Amino acid sequence: MEKFISIAIDGPSGSGKSTLAKLLASRLGYVYIDTGALYRTIGYFVRNEGVASDDERGIVECLPKIDITMKLVGGAGVVFLGGNPVGTEIRTSEISTYASNVSKIPEVRAFLLDLQRNIAKSNNVIMDGRDIGTVVLPDSQVKVFLTASNDSRAERRYAELVARGDDVTLEQVKADLCWRDKNDLERKIAPAVPAEDSVMLDNSALSCEETVEAVLEIIRKKTH
Ligand code: C5P
Repeated sequence: MEKFISIAIDGPSGSGKSTLAKLLASRLGYVYIDTGALYRTIGYFVRNEGVASDDERGIVECLPKIDITMKLVGGAGVVFLGGNPVGTEIRTSEISTYASNVSKIPEVRAFLLDLQRNIAKSNNVIMDGRDIGTVVLPDSQVKVFLTASNDSRAERRYAELVARGDDVTLEQVKADLCWRDKNDLERKIAPAVPAEDSVMLDNSALSCEETVEAVLEIIRKKTH
């Protein structure tokens, strides 16, 4: 059986995981998978059902109604909800909060596990998330835990939201980010912590290109 390579990029919100993972995927010709989009889509669905983000039972009851799939389009996984591709509607601050709350529920994590693993069974992947190296793909050949200072992360997220036309302040973005970090780090299941064999990389002072080069070097060392 052909052996596929998987590269896990985990880390807190705003650390630049998705920018890094996309650039790496195009350089290496691997498939890029954004696993946060799956949790965001579950959050988006339950919000539209009128279920509160802290209503664990209500969220679990929604799961059988959710038709979520991921299809590979142009080298990246695109999430489909009820047969339609999801877009920027899952990228709002409200849906970030929903995603972080639904992701604490074991049934939600179990619901999304095979979907993520199946993609890595038949493709070389760069997967970004919080628990890729620890839970989803513990046998990944390369695991990177990407971090950056709170200020750099908040500034990056703020610039992203403003570019999208969102009416937010830097203070608000920083507060949301700190709340989400704590929520993701302190949850009982699959907390956002590095795997024992992760390489830690703080990219606060690195450009995108420098971060890509640093990770390519880690990949070269680990795969040769
Ligand atoms: O990466 P992104 O910010 O889009 O993820 C949204 C939320 O989804 C995170 O705050 C986290 O709670 C959850 N998540 C997760 N496990 C993953 C990816 C995302 O719990 N592998």
